[in-house]
Amino acid sequence: MVKKFNLILQEKIDLADNTQHFRFAVDAEEPLTYKAGHFISLHIEKDGKEHRRNYSIANAPSNDNVIEMAMSYVPNGMASTLLYNLQPGETLQASGPYGQFTLKDPVPPKRYILIGTGTGITPYRAMLPELEDILKNTQTQVVILQGVRTAQDLLYSGDFVEFAAKSGNASFKACYSREFPAQAQGYELSGYVQNHLQDLNIDPEGDIAYLCGNPNMVDDAFVKLQELGLDRKRIRREKYLSSK
Ligand SMILES: Cc1cc2nc3c(=O)[nH]c(=O)nc-3n(C[C@H](O)[C@H](O)[C@H](O)COP(=O)(O)OP(=O)(O)OC[C@H]3O[C@@H](n4cnc5c(N)ncnc54)[C@H](O)[C@@H]3O)c2cc1C
Repeated sequence: MVKKFNLILQEKIDLADNTQHFRFAVDAEEPLTYKAGHFISLHIEKDGKEHRRNYSIANAPSNDNVIEMAMSYVPNGMASTLLYNLQPGETLQASGPYGQFTLKDPVPPKRYILIGTGTGITPYRAMLPELEDILKNTQTQVVILQGVRTAQDLLYSGDFVEFAAKSGNASFKACYSREFPAQAQGYELSGYVQNHLQDLNIDPEGDIAYLCGNPNMVDDAFVKLQELGLDRKRIRREKYLSSK
């Protein structure tokens, strides 16, 4: 059931040039329960009206009653300005959880392909413990592709590199659309994430793909995956459309 609650900022960290990580304590009568992949809505009062902005939850469900998220700053954006200036101890109104972008297969597929650009990678960070359980108990493989402009724009890459290193059946790749480092690591690739889909050897019966973030990437990858043989029913999407 959807609930309204307050979020009290505990900590704010710079993740990349224009992206910050937020950790909030949930102030509600009951602990907030959600699934990895859900998002929350911030309720913002401005000019006598209530506006809503959505943010994916970046941490796995736990008993801590804490919500983490990453916000990419949009110049002069309503929520961006509010969050950018928010100080520890200050409170926001929110509701949730919302969404269908969760791991929901009673029998996990042969492979999950999880693709995100920018802050669209955050739902997969929340999914890591659930994915670890799946990897431990099944033959399922996991491929995570993160699309960013440069290595400096990577978000939570340490978590994904560590996850892939300790789980034999998982891999993580970072795809850079602009600058490629002179001394690249094995997980770093050049070009848009969409350009690497053909290298995945799509299995139409065994793969399930998740696409999250920039709407152009989501649309492009949706078309490409279908061209590679994956049925649209096996492709799940979360587009970070701006509210207007
Ligand atoms: C399901 C869902 C989950 C989302 N999760 C996240 C998340 O985890 N992290 C996150 O940072 N965002 C996320 N978003 C986007 C977020 O909800 C806001 O749209 C975004 O933060 C901009 O809000 P704002 O109020 O700062 O800007 P607004 O006041 O809405 O916009 C200001 C101006 O900037 C333009 N604009 C809006 N967004 C962008 C953009 N991304 N790039 C360029 N111009 C833009 C608008 O068209 C407008 O002209 C999500 C969106 C959805 C639908």
